[in-house]
Amino acid sequence: MIKEDISREKSAELYEKARQYFPGGVNSPVRAFKSVFGTPLFIRKGDGCYLWDADGNQFIDFCCSWGPLILGHNHPSVRESVVQAIQNGMSFGAPTMLENQLAELILTHNKLVEKIRFVSSGTEAVMSAIRLARGYTGRDKILKFEGCYHGHADSLLVKAGSGLVTLGETSSAGIPAAFANETIVAPLNDREAVQEAFHTFSGQIAAVIIEGIPANNGLLIQDKDYIDFLREITSANGTLLIFDEVITGFRLGFEGAAAYYDIRPDILTYGKIIGGGMPVGMYGASAAIMSSISPEGPVYQAGTLSGNPVAMAAGLAQLSELLQPGFYDELNRKTAGFTGSIQSFLTERGYPCKLYVIGSIFWIAFSELEIKKAGDIDPASMERFRVLHRELLNRGVYFGPSGYEVGFISAAHTPAVLETAKQAIFDSFDVVF
Ligand code: PLP
Repeated sequence: MIKEDISREKSAELYEKARQYFPGGVNSPVRAFKSVFGTPLFIRKGDGCYLWDADGNQFIDFCCSWGPLILGHNHPSVRESVVQAIQNGMSFGAPTMLENQLAELILTHNKLVEKIRFVSSGTEAVMSAIRLARGYTGRDKILKFEGCYHGHADSLLVKAGSGLVTLGETSSAGIPAAFANETIVAPLNDREAVQEAFHTFSGQIAAVIIEGIPANNGLLIQDKDYIDFLREITSANGTLLIFDEVITGFRLGFEGAAAYYDIRPDILTYGKIIGGGMPVGMYGASAAIMSSISPEGPVYQAGTLSGNPVAMAAGLAQLSELLQPGFYDELNRKTAGFTGSIQSFLTERGYPCKLYVIGSIFWIAFSELEIKKAGDIDPASMERFRVLHRELLNRGVYFGPSGYEVGFISAAHTPAVLETAKQAIFDSFDVVF
């Protein structure tokens, strides 16, 4: 049964104002609810697995700030660590002990990187990693995959997913052709396209970059042998393999998707979870590759707020929680149970949908066909997501406002909450179909 719409009166008022200040009324495009029903919700507060909007509506949150909040909103140990750090000042533009502590924690438990650099966003991490790859190899071209989103740096906004695909585009305006020409794009799960690129641009490709698990254009889980193939072809051609783990890093485990695939990329990029909800990104590699970074080497990269002490404190608290024995097993088990029963419901009802799940990340595809690359998704199916999203909000469940984006489960989603959410999801699907 169609559920009555929740009140969005206050959100609508705030949105009207916001439209006077910001393009589209937002500071990041997908937030504008362009491909789902109604005015964007203005969030007043988050706690545990819940969100409250300006109108006082409560939601079970499966967006989790697009991934960083693996412990849920306002986790006590993260909050306390931040409050403690703030009391000593917010930024110094000079080294602090907290940077060392977070680095030590990471390097002790993530053996894929020997040296790291903290930056302030995932975009910065990837942008810097690309520059590092170019500087290290002395080559200009990079190869990326269609549908993979790596932030909004120029050379990576070519055939990207996330907000671009949500808004019906795949590449951004404002990128000089000369830059875009340095980016080769191949479809995922396609060996020949990659082989052809290496043949055509022999000796010119600095790096192949792929999301650890592509999760910005649906959840496009690649086979291990394809990832192994990328490792082999890059090594054979003197090209670096960059794993963008901004979503998967510290989500699939402390060593992210690289450990899942049991491979060793040359450069890894991280963001989201590493900051415990504060703006942090990080890239890392072997000591030899990282020695190209300034002031040790010639590749320049810097940041006024890099390694910000408050952000470091949040990261330290959050990552320490993730190291508790059994943390990931419990989170993944919970996710498997939740998504498994949704899939069973859909199958029993004969609704043509398939859930893609890895670790605590999930995505609902409105198709039963196997989806492994961006081109496999029928954009028309997003109309169904639009109906689903509206029904879910009206039943107190918040998914990110785009059918191309994935959902996240946090440690704060208790079994009882997941039961409630499941019922709301079932009822919403009964309206969609
Ligand atoms: N890389 C991936 C895989 C991402 O999912 C994102 C953002 O969602 C980014 C990079 C960019 O990160 P940020 O939004 O922190 O700049």
